[in-house]
This record gives sequence, structure tokens and C-alpha cells, in this order.
Amino acid sequence: MLITNVSQLKTLLEKKNIFLSVEELNEIEEVTKKYPMRMSEYYFSLIKEKNDPIWNQCVPKIEEIEIESGEEDPLHEENQIPFLTHRYPDRCLLLISNTCGMYCRFCTRKRKVGEIKKNPTKKAIEKAIEYIKEHKEIRDVILSGGDPLLLSVETLERILIDLRKIDHIEVIRIGTRAPCTMPERVTDKLCETLKKYNRNPMLYINVHFEHPDEITPKSKAACEKLLDAGIPLGNQSVVLKGVNSNSETFKELNRKLLSIGVKPYYLYQPDLVKGTKHFIGPVKEGIKIIKGLRGHTSGMAVPHFVIDAPGGGGKIPLLPNYAKIQKSGKVKMKNYEGKSFEYSLD
Ligand SMILES: *Cc1c(COP(=O)(O)O)cnc(C)c1O
Ligand code: SF4
Repeated sequence: MLITNVSQLKTLLEKKNIFLSVEELNEIEEVTKKYPMRMSEYYFSLIKEKNDPIWNQCVPKIEEIEIESGEEDPLHEENQIPFLTHRYPDRCLLLISNTCGMYCRFCTRKRKVGEIKKNPTKKAIEKAIEYIKEHKEIRDVILSGGDPLLLSVETLERILIDLRKIDHIEVIRIGTRAPCTMPERVTDKLCETLKKYNRNPMLYINVHFEHPDEITPKSKAACEKLLDAGIPLGNQSVVLKGVNSNSETFKELNRKLLSIGVKPYYLYQPDLVKGTKHFIGPVKEGIKIIKGLRGHTSGMAVPHFVIDAPGGGGKIPLLPNYAKIQKSGKVKMKNYEGKSFEYSLD
């Protein structure tokens, strides 16, 4: 069952002994008129208390409509070919769905997600695939949305079959939050289908976990099934105020991810999206998180911290200042413990 309205939410919260005032319920209702609410019973079950990191990701807050700053589409993803963004030389992003298992309150594509009317049509996707066919420089196609795993297995299969006919595609990636927010969506049928298309081009999946409490026996099993279908898994997270914005949380999350076969890939500074300002903290917190990981835990648990440049400049990495290269070529460095070192040829 999906939780999509305030009365369902109220009833289920009361079962957890969480009681909201009439005013609070009205506020949630007001927000859902602009930005729909949706969460699976599974994800809801992870809430322990009001305003905890799980709650903050899925329960609407009045700040979403009260704070006006930000843009609807700060990354300028909308362009001539609907649902396709070709920003980098050799890869492109194709939005094939605008439904998700959950509508994350901080979503970058808040403008789109949940609006069935704006769901990409079969024809629009075919057109986008036509563009990819004509652009031989594209070797990597990222399927995103919304959530591609919320499409029917048949629809997703059709898209994979069509893409696989294009010789110059070497890699297909799927971005999905389903293993985290709706693990039951990772069915045997889905995995059997993906397994048929897992090589040539190589299929990768990037999942999306934000907090250690999201690593549960169910989400772990969903990831394992995808791994068993021969698909390597990466993770993308966003630094979110009220959810995860400290290095201890990420140390735990990323260790847990590695232990279930998921390699942390990107850590994003949030995009400046309208309705999400209450999640956005200073950029230096992201740098601090990386500093708290590098050297302190497995290198494999350290993602790239990036800002997706507003206006469509692409992802730009940010790193803690570990080293200075002097004119002579000598490098003055500090290690993860803050100890100084030098590297010099002579
Ligand atoms: C993130 C993104 C990609 C993929 O970038 P990688 O650094 O290769 O993961 C491609 N196209 C667009 C528009 C993107 O936003
Ligand atoms: S699953 Fe992804 S696309 Fe869907 S609402 Fe959450 S962040 Fe946005």
C-alpha cells in the first residue's frame, strides 16, 4: 500500500504513537497540493520518531511552500529533446519515468516527479533513442527519472532492447531509489529480465541511500538480488540537513553500503531547487564529511563530493585541501591525521 494522503498518514502515525496537531496536519495537506506525498508502507515503517532522518525525507514540511528561493530547474535539464539531457561529450541522461516509490521531499526534479501528465510517452522515448542513435559520440546512457524501476518490467525491457540495438553504446546505467524506498519492487521477474541484458553494453545500477537506518534486511536483500543478476551497484547520496549532514553518519552509511556490495559513488551538495531550501547546509559540511572519511575508513567508502553547477555546467568535484604544489615542484601535504609531509624529487 502507498501512503499518499494526510488521513492515511494520520492513522498510521497514531499506530506508532505519534500524534500531530490539526494545524500540523493541515500544513502537510497544503504542501501536498503543490508537491504530492508518496511513501511505501515499508519506508514509513522505518520512521522511529517525528522529524527523524527517515521522517524528514518523506513527510512534507510547510517550508516547501513557504520558502520561495530556488529555481524549478536549476540544472537546466529541460531542452529541445524532451526527457534527454546531453551535457557531456560521451554520455547522456534519459528520463524515462516520473513516478517513484517515494516522493523524496528534497528531490531535484521536484518540478516533474509525480505529475502523471508529464510522464514521458512511448513516442517521446523513441524520439530520444533516435537522437542517441544519431549521435555516435554517446557511449554511456543513464536512465533516470523518476525511477526507472517503477516502470513495468515490459516497458523497461523494451527500452533496454531498443538501446542495445545501438552499436556505439558501451554502458547503460540505471539510477533508482527502489531498493531503498520500495525493495519489494526488486522482484525475481525484474532481476531475471535485467540479467538477460547485463553485458554488452555493460549494465550498472546506481542506488540511492541517505541514512544508515535505510540499510535493513529488506533493502539488503534487494541489493543482493541485483548483484546476483550480475549488475554492479553504486550509491549516490545528497548531503541533507536534518538527515545526514555529518561524517559519523556517512562513515556508518558507507561502511554498511560496502558490506552489502554497494560502492559509494557520488555525494552531492543539494541543487538549489525551489521548495528544498530547508535541506541545504553550507558546502563546507560536505568537505568535512569527505575529510572524516578519507583515511579513517576504506578508500572504497569515500565517494566524490560534487556540486552540479547551476545553469548546467555539470558536476564539479570539491576536495579538502590536502596538498600545495610549490613553484619548485615540491609538494607540501597533510595526511588524514593532520600530520605534515613533503614530496620532492631532489
Ligand atoms: C550526472 C550526469 C551524468 C553522468 O555523470 P557521470 O559523472 O558520468 O556519472 C550525465 N549527464 C547528466 C546530464 C548528468 O547530470
Ligand atoms: S526517488 Fe529520486 S527522483 Fe524520485 S523523488 Fe526521490 S530523489 Fe526524486
